[in-house]
Amino acid sequence: MRLVFLGLAGAGKGTQALVLSEKLGIPFVSSGDMFRHHLSQSTDLGRLAKGYMDKGELVPDEVTIKMVVDRIEQRDCRKGFILDGFPRTLAQAEALDRALGKGPVEKVLYIKVSEEELVRRLAGRISCRTCGTPYQLDALPAQAKTCPKCGGELYQRADDKPEVVRKRLELQWPEVQGLAGYYAGQKKLVEINGERPVDQVGSDLLKAVGA
Ligand SMILES: [Zn+2]
Repeated sequence: MRLVFLGLAGAGKGTQALVLSEKLGIPFVSSGDMFRHHLSQSTDLGRLAKGYMDKGELVPDEVTIKMVVDRIEQRDCRKGFILDGFPRTLAQAEALDRALGKGPVEKVLYIKVSEEELVRRLAGRISCRTCGTPYQLDALPAQAKTCPKCGGELYQRADDKPEVVRKRLELQWPEVQGLAGYYAGQKKLVEINGERPVDQVGSDLLKAVGA
């Protein structure tokens, strides 16, 4: 079961991918975790990536692809994997197809959430200045002024301000649309309505993968 998650930031991909990974017993491969692993272990690929990042340049697709392939060739991925955060662009999707060869991506799960809803979710988020934990404003007790975990001060990150969120979504939108079109052309795209409770989205995802 080789799966890719697709969707805009805030659509709930990470949460759903983790749940699905546990249900299916296949690893959740997040591009963010993969990068952190290579950078913290200072692997060859990590040092290569760091070279670009130190110069303020984007890490080239070929380096990222190598990290992905290296990860999904490990034993725990023999029964499959769930990719999140990669591919981000059409060029990366094509490179991934070439790299996977005879074991291609089977299904692409596109969690669709409208821009209004995403802005509501993301702009309603506050974080702890001390431990960094993000909270959904409406999930916190009304009188909470400090972090329930560590007592740190809660604030809205510049990243989470509505106008910044909107700008970020506008930048991501064309890429997500491009990828959706690409995988629809390969008859791999499954659209999931992400504007419903987490468990309902989860059960749709299970149905979509035939589990
Ligand atoms: Zn905290």
